[in-house]
Amino acid sequence: MTDTVRYEQPEPGIARVVLARPEKRNAQDRELLHALDDAYRRALADEQVRVIVLAADGPDFSAGHDLDTDWSMAGAQPRTLTGGFDAPGAEGWFATEEELFTGLCLRWRDMPRPTIAEVRGRVIGGGLMLVWPCDLIVAAQGASFVDPVVAFDMNGAEYFTHLWELGARRAKEMLFTGERITAEEALSIGMVNRVVPDDELEEATLELARRVAARPQFGVRLAKRSINHGLDLQGQRAAVEAAFGVHHLAHSHNQRLHSGLVDPRGAAVIRDEARAADDPT
Ligand code: ZN
Repeated sequence: MTDTVRYEQPEPGIARVVLARPEKRNAQDRELLHALDDAYRRALADEQVRVIVLAADGPDFSAGHDLDTDWSMAGAQPRTLTGGFDAPGAEGWFATEEELFTGLCLRWRDMPRPTIAEVRGRVIGGGLMLVWPCDLIVAAQGASFVDPVVAFDMNGAEYFTHLWELGARRAKEMLFTGERITAEEALSIGMVNRVVPDDELEEATLELARRVAARPQFGVRLAKRSINHGLDLQGQRAAVEAAFGVHHLAHSHNQRLHSGLVDPRGAAVIRDEARAADDPT
């Protein structure tokens, strides 16, 4: 286990995996994503673990992908049977994102144990891809959710389940405007299961985990599998993969126009909008 993800066992039957990079608002780099994958594997390898909670240190759950990090896969052990990370042209980055983003997230969605996200503070862009694969979501009152990635001249974050999480019309508004969804609104549209006072978040999540852990484990597993199968019959996986394809069209578009993966003006737009939302006066 690395310093960026912590593995806890608060009580028998419950594993609590904690993003521990609060100084970066839990922004993701390669190390954090692979450490998270390691933590999930550890929980799955322990037959005593009946429920997995995903939590985060600090005031914000995740600021998304770390835009300053080196995403090189040199020396990394791929988890999704992809490769060719150093290939020239669009190939290398396509493989890297397929490994680190959509590949890991689709696998995490289908882990054969129930998962609960314990969400405090802001979830921004790529942060959604850690929360949405979880089966249940408990949000603190102050939590908020936003995908501002269209500001980078992209279609949105790489794990594109927005349609199922929000419904078509609300998903479009979130993507078109970059505006946040509050915890209360997320509850009203079924994107989260519960909203609790910020100082009760950890205990409320544990309480829900206890209830799930008390149910027959195989039954819970089959219920999860059945719902996820339904999502796939609705085309969720195909939609994620289709969105991932045009996401890479957008990377190529920006590469031609700006010699970078994204429109460089987007970062300032997102920063200014976040400031305005934090301090509306
Ligand atoms: Zn991307």
